Amino acid sequence: MTRTDLFGMTAGEIAAAVAPYGLEKYRGRQLATWLYQRHVRDFAAMTDLPVKAREVLAAHFTAGTVTVRAEQHAADGATSKFLLALADGLAVETVLMVHDYGSSVCVSTQVGCAMGCAFCASTLRGVERDLTAGEILAQALYADEYLRRRGAGVNSLVIMGSGEPLANYDNVVKFIRLCHEPYCLGLSYRGVTLSTAGVVPGIDRLAAEGLPVTLAISLHAPDDELRTRLMPVNRTWPLAAVLAAGDRYAAATGRRVTYEYALIAGVNDGDAQAAALAALLKGRLANVNLIPVNAVPERGLLRPDAARVKRFLAVLTAGRVNATVRREMGSDISAACGQLRHAVLAAEERRE
Ligand code: SF4
Repeated sequence: MTRTDLFGMTAGEIAAAVAPYGLEKYRGRQLATWLYQRHVRDFAAMTDLPVKAREVLAAHFTAGTVTVRAEQHAADGATSKFLLALADGLAVETVLMVHDYGSSVCVSTQVGCAMGCAFCASTLRGVERDLTAGEILAQALYADEYLRRRGAGVNSLVIMGSGEPLANYDNVVKFIRLCHEPYCLGLSYRGVTLSTAGVVPGIDRLAAEGLPVTLAISLHAPDDELRTRLMPVNRTWPLAAVLAAGDRYAAATGRRVTYEYALIAGVNDGDAQAAALAALLKGRLANVNLIPVNAVPERGLLRPDAARVKRFLAVLTAGRVNATVRREMGSDISAACGQLRHAVLAAEERRE
């Protein structure tokens, strides 16, 4: 008999799933609290449930399974990276960043990615499958449990790991709603950032969802020719369409849109490109997040030096565009998305 996995269900869905076995409606919230807040997956350990109910649950239900396959902790102590194995043996990366102002966890939404961005290790093997809401949640809760053992917890979420979140829309939105629930992480929607490569129909759908999450859109180039080279998705949704969708999102939610720009030495980091980017974004409810790219040896991509990054930022600022440079975290632990997974899988293949 196959058992139903409760992990990833809302309290209401859990209540409905267990009701046919004689469990009262309020047990849904009680079980959700055990799973999502107390990080207990073993029904036998849920001590405020009657023994009979625990036996029934164990016979008919499971409570999610992710196990750590590899982990890395940066020398600065501020970044940890986990490669988590899913029930079917596939693996995804989760990154935990501890800032002065709180802790943020970056989750993956697909196993691999189909988007094909030139600078990204996640896409080297294509996309294998979408993650369920429970599998995305398991990553955030794994990081939360890790922090709780150290007297802290997750304060914000970044949906920016492997995968295009808007290509797995329903699971991602369910995950965001779950994280907001008081019986789960209780996170404010404003503490959630969703990063997309620029899937225009998904941006419009999200704008209509009534979730005031921060939208981050990857631009990486100020013209269509270069953007298509770096991000093949630009053939489907070119710059003008992406920027118009960003404006609609800002108008619908009142939230400033973040445009991500990975700086790649000699490719998109020139003064003229900075000026062109400033001209594109001037007057928009937007800010730019500059990310000096992590070198990807397979693709021969190099990171610009600090002086070039500073100059690019100065040109944007002079063009009256809000811009910041992402603080470098964990570059000693393969911090770019997909690098740990890629390195572990490649090592395993070599062994085989
Ligand atoms: S950068 Fe993001 S969208 Fe592009 S291939 Fe990597 S995971 Fe996919």
